[in-house]
Amino acid sequence: MEKLSPMMKQYFEIKEQYQDCILFFRLGDFYEMFYDDALTVSKELELTLTGKNCGQEERAPMCGVPFHSAEPYIHKLVDKGYKVAICEQVQDPKEAKGIVARDVIKIVTPGTITSGLMLKEGENNYLASIYYNKGKDAGLALSYSDISTGELAVTETSGDERGYEEILNEICNISPKEILVNQEYADRFDLEELSAISNVPVSAIGIRPEREFSASIAEKIMAGSLGKGSVISSGLKDRETSLGALSALLTYLLETQKQSLKQITSCSYYELGSRMSLDKATLRNLEITETLYDKRRQGSLLGILDRTHTAMGARLLKKWLKEPLNNKEEVNARLDAVEALYNNPLLSNNLTEELKLIYDFERLASRVASGNANGRDLLAIKRSVDALPEIINTISDFDIEEENLLRKLSGNIHDFSDVSLIIERAIDPDAPITITEGELILPGYSEELDNLKDSIRDAKNWIAGLEGRERERTGIKNLKVGFNKVFGYYIDVTRSQSDQVPEDYIRKQTLVNNERYITPELKEMENLVLNAETKINKLEYELFSEIRKGLEERIRDFQETSQIIATLDCLSSFADCASRYGYVKPTVDDSTVLEIVGGRHPVVEQTETKGLFVSNDTYLDNKDNVLAIITGPNMSGKSTYMRQTALIVLMAQAGSFVPAERARIGICDRIFTRIGASDNLAQGQSTFYVEMSELSYILNTAKERSLIILDEIGRGTSTYDGLSIAWAAARYLCNKDRRIRTLFATHYHELTDLSSMVDGIFDLNVSVSEDKGEIVFLHKIVPGAASKSYGIHVAKIAGIPKVLLDEAERKLASFDEEAKDYVYDSQGLNPDMKNTSDNQSENQQLSLFSTIKESELVTMVRELDLMETTPSQAIGILEKLKSLTEE
Ligand code: ATP
Repeated sequence: MEKLSPMMKQYFEIKEQYQDCILFFRLGDFYEMFYDDALTVSKELELTLTGKNCGQEERAPMCGVPFHSAEPYIHKLVDKGYKVAICEQVQDPKEAKGIVARDVIKIVTPGTITSGLMLKEGENNYLASIYYNKGKDAGLALSYSDISTGELAVTETSGDERGYEEILNEICNISPKEILVNQEYADRFDLEELSAISNVPVSAIGIRPEREFSASIAEKIMAGSLGKGSVISSGLKDRETSLGALSALLTYLLETQKQSLKQITSCSYYELGSRMSLDKATLRNLEITETLYDKRRQGSLLGILDRTHTAMGARLLKKWLKEPLNNKEEVNARLDAVEALYNNPLLSNNLTEELKLIYDFERLASRVASGNANGRDLLAIKRSVDALPEIINTISDFDIEEENLLRKLSGNIHDFSDVSLIIERAIDPDAPITITEGELILPGYSEELDNLKDSIRDAKNWIAGLEGRERERTGIKNLKVGFNKVFGYYIDVTRSQSDQVPEDYIRKQTLVNNERYITPELKEMENLVLNAETKINKLEYELFSEIRKGLEERIRDFQETSQIIATLDCLSSFADCASRYGYVKPTVDDSTVLEIVGGRHPVVEQTETKGLFVSNDTYLDNKDNVLAIITGPNMSGKSTYMRQTALIVLMAQAGSFVPAERARIGICDRIFTRIGASDNLAQGQSTFYVEMSELSYILNTAKERSLIILDEIGRGTSTYDGLSIAWAAARYLCNKDRRIRTLFATHYHELTDLSSMVDGIFDLNVSVSEDKGEIVFLHKIVPGAASKSYGIHVAKIAGIPKVLLDEAERKLASFDEEAKDYVYDSQGLNPDMKNTSDNQSENQQLSLFSTIKESELVTMVRELDLMETTPSQAIGILEKLKSLTEE
C-alpha cells in the first residue's frame, strides 16, 4: 500500500468494501477495472487487457469500457451472475484538494436491475429472500420484490417438509433472478435443489448473515419507507418469520440501491393456497409460459393467450396463468368482465385502442421514485395518463351491473389531470435523454428561465448570422461557423485558404485539413452565451427535479392505476382470444364435477392441425367417474387430450373463456402432472428416479379437489415392476377414502381390468379405424379399453427399416401367444417361465393379476384394501387367498 499511487490507494480502499463485486472505477470518460476484476472482465467480455503504472514494479492488469456505453457491458456481467459496483466521482474536481473523492453509488445485481435497457418488458425482475426460522415453531417465509415496479410481497408457512415443498413451488412460480437465504436455511436444506427449481444459478443465491433476518430491522425499514403503521396494515404484526425474510430483502435493496426505496409503497402479505399452485413439473409439462423442449414462448399457452397491449398487462397475464385463482367468486368476477367485453366488440375495440396508448407507467413511476426519470419519461407518463379519462368513458358505456369488475376497476382509476397539466406546461415535447444539458423546459413555465434565455437571444442571433457575414467579408465561400463542447465557438477555414483570413482572426485549433479561428468579438459573444447557458442548464435541471419531486407524492396512485390498467388489459386479451379462437364462458362452481363438452387443446388446435382438430369430451367427479384409464395407440392423442383438460381447467380458473362447446369446472385447488420422460442427469438422477419422485410427490400432496394427469407411469423399469406400480398408484388414487380426479394414460392394457374391480375407475380409449391394414388415428376419445397398441405401425411411419419391422411383427405374434398362456393357464403362470428363478418375482406379480381376475376374489381384495400393504405383503395375501379359493 505504501508504494501505491494515491489513486490506487483509493481504489483499494473502495475495493476492500466490495470484494464480492466487480468494481467499475470511474476515471475520466471510462470505467476501469484492475487486477483480478480486469482479468475476469477481459475474459468474460472479450476486452483487451492492458496495464497501468500504479507505483509498484509490475503494472496492474487493467481493462475498461466507455462510461456512456457501459450499460450493455454491465448487463452482460450481471447476466452471467456477477455483481457490479459502480464507483463514481462524488466531488467536483474543482473543489478537490488532492485526489477527487470517489464512492460506490450503486450495486447492480441480477435481482436489483432498474435500467430500462437491461429489463425485459413483459417480465418482472424479482429478488427473493427465504428465511428459515429454526425457532420453537419452525417456519419458512418467502418475500420478493421487483424494484423496477415497486412490488413487494411476503408469505410464510411451516418449516417442515410440506412447508419446504410449498416454498419451492412458490419460488418456481415467481421465477426470481436472485435469491437470498439465511445460513440456517443453507444448513438445513439443499441449495442445489433451490437452484434447480428456481433456475437461479448457485452464484446468484446469496447466504446472508443471520442478523440481517430480524423482525426489528424489517419494522424499522418499513416504518421509514412505507409509513409508520405499515407493519400492521400489511397484516405482518407478530409474523416474525415473514418479517425476517423482509428484513434481509429490504436491507439488501438499500445496500445495492444506495438510496431510500420510495418506489415501494406497500407490502402485501398473502396466504399460500389462496391461489392454485402449480409445481415446476406441471408448469413445464403443460407448457404454460414456454415450450418443453426449446423453451420458446411461441407454442406455449402464454404465446396463444397473450394479446395484451401494455407491458404491465403482459407481466400480469403471465402471473395469472402461472397462478390461477381457486376462489369461485374471484374467478366468476373475471369471467363476467370478460363476458361483458366479449359481448360488446365495438366498445372492446375502443378499449384496446386506448390501452395501446399507455406506456409502462408502473416502471416509469418507479423511475420517478428513484430519481432516474428523464424528460421523455415524464412525457410518456403524460401520454399515458391522458388516455385514462377515455378508458373510464368507454367502460361507462358498457351495459353492465355496478358490481361488474370492469366498473369497479374503472371507478378506482385515479385522476391525474394535474400531472398532465404540469407536464404539458413544463416539459418540451422534444426533450433530450439527458436532464443536465437543457432543452427540457418550455417557455412560459418559469419567468427566470425565460429572462435568462432572452438575455442571450441577441448574442445567439449574432452568432447565427456570422457565417454569412464572414463569407462576404473574407470572400472564402466554404467558411463555416461551428461549436464543440471542448473548444467552444470557432470559424473553420480549409488549410488551402487559410492565407486569406483577415488579421483579426486568432488561430484556435489546427486540424489535418482545416484551421479553426476565433475573433475577439466572437469570443465575447461566446462568453456571454456559455455563461448564460450554464446558468440556464442548471436552472432547467432544478425546475425539472422539482416537477419530478412533485410526482413522487403520487407514486402510490400511479402504481394502483397501473395495476388496474394491467388487469383491464388481461381481461380484454381474454375477450379478444375468446372471439378470435371461438372460446366459451365456462361455469365455475364449488362442485367436484369436471365436465367438458367438445374440448380442444388451445395450442395444438392453432398449429399443425389447424381446422382439423378433433374435439373431445371429459367427465370426472369424485363419485363414480374418478379415474379414467386411457389406452390407445401411440400418437393417437392421449397426451393432447389430457393436457387440454388440464389447460381448460387452468384457463377457466385464470378467468379466461375456454376452447370447448361447454364446460363446467368444479374448482380445482391444484393440477398435478406426470408426463413423459424428463431426465435430470445433470443432477445425477435417472429418468425412472425422477418419475418415481414426481409420482411420490403427487400421491403425497394431491387432495380431494386436485386434478391429476398421469401419462405413462412405470415405464423406466421392467414391465412387471412398472405395471405393478401403475396398478397400485391407480388404486391408491381411487380408494374409498381418497377419490382424486385423475386422467391416467397408459400402454399397460392390464390396467383396464381395474375398471371392473374398482368403483370410480373407468376406461377411455382413442378410436382407430383399421381397414385392410390401413390404420387411421381418429383422435376421438370414446368409452372402453383399446385392444391394441399399434406401436409397430408408428415405428413404420417413423421410418424403421422393413426387415426390422418384419422381425418385430413375428416377435409380437409370439408374445401374444405366450400372453394367451398366461391368461388361460389354470395356475396363472406360464409353465415356461415357472422354473426360471430370475423371473420368480415377475411371475408372482403376474399371478397377482391373473388372480385378481377371479371374480370371487374381487370383493375380498376390495375389502382388504391391499394398497395399504407393502407389495410383498400384498402378493403373500393374494397367494393365500388364491389357494383358499382353489380349495
Ligand atoms: P404416445 O402414446 O406416443 O405418447 P399420444 O397418444 O399421447 O402418443 P399425442 O402426443 O397426444 O399422442 O398426439 C400425437 C399427435 O396427434 C399430436 O402431435 C397432434 O398433432 C395430433 N393430435 C392429437 N390429438 C388430436 C386431436 N384431438 N385432433 C387432431 N390431431 C390431434
